[in-house]
Amino acid sequence: MVKIYLTNPIQERTVVSMKEPKTLQQAIQYFSDEQTCIDAVAAMRWPNGVLCVFCEADKPYYLQTQKRWKCRKCRKQFSVKVNSIFEDSPIALTKWLPALWLLVNCKNGVSSYEISRDLGVTQKSAWFMLQRLRLALNNRDFSAKMGGNEGGVEVDETFVGGKGKNMHRSRKLELVRMRSEVANWKAQSKGSGRYPNKTAVMGIFDRESRQIRAKVVPNVRRETLQAEILNSVEHGSRIYTDQAVAYDSLREQYIHETVNHVEEYVRGQVHTNCLENFWSLMKRNLAGTYVCVEPFHLDRYLDEQMFRFNNRATKDNPLTDTDRFLLALSQVANKRLTYAELTGKTATTQA
Ligand SMILES: [Zn+2]
Repeated sequence: MVKIYLTNPIQERTVVSMKEPKTLQQAIQYFSDEQTCIDAVAAMRWPNGVLCVFCEADKPYYLQTQKRWKCRKCRKQFSVKVNSIFEDSPIALTKWLPALWLLVNCKNGVSSYEISRDLGVTQKSAWFMLQRLRLALNNRDFSAKMGGNEGGVEVDETFVGGKGKNMHRSRKLELVRMRSEVANWKAQSKGSGRYPNKTAVMGIFDRESRQIRAKVVPNVRRETLQAEILNSVEHGSRIYTDQAVAYDSLREQYIHETVNHVEEYVRGQVHTNCLENFWSLMKRNLAGTYVCVEPFHLDRYLDEQMFRFNNRATKDNPLTDTDRFLLALSQVANKRLTYAELTGKTATTQA
């Protein structure tokens, strides 16, 4: 196996490349063998060799017939699924891995109905699988600040929820509708910063690294949005927003330029088009593929969208389907999501 280095400036990490597969069809064939799946997950979980999940001792015995390791030190046994998003799942890795391939490589997302039909699991199982897989895509290390470069950052917010409408309109019409809806609402709203039955999402896009960070926010009041910007964007950066009053007074820390969406959409570099395209893609996926999303689950859908967007192939970072799959597979460990947590019976413990 050969090590390759992703050159993504924010999320630089190491992945192990494998010779095959390159396409969905090859992936389904390649991962039809359970041992192959175990080897692939193990290689991504433990790039420097398998470590005991209980005491981290190295070089455990592999019990070939049971497909489990036994620790030389603490003598406990464990499978490759333990302490990962696959833990306690009766579904075979031969279904999990093709599902992950689909999720990270379908630009428009994949629904539980498609997974159910394609992989031969129930729709309920497929829904649960997708929720767990999205957890693997969660790579929210938001500690490094964005901006601080020539390119500047775009900041914008939007609202998700309510009825899925205008699904059959062209993308351009949908963008215009979205912009005027949000612009109208912003013009009227002076109070709570909330939109009835909708969830507010805020996004920051760094034009130089081409990376997006998006998260659910409780409202779009000035103090909420400005606190997010102060935490996330280097002082002195150039910031592009629309003319929402929530972005007033950024001028103390930033070079702030605004675009008036009622009269114009673009004035040279002054626009928030990259974020608006991201919102548009997200909304079409939510309205089409996913039918409906409760606010409770929205952060996980955002993780999925961000993963695909931030790891898309660009000229400087020519990632392939295989790269995206392996990157996701390298993030499956130390994350768990139980059915009770998912259905809201207890709080999610994953950080
Ligand atoms: Zn051990």
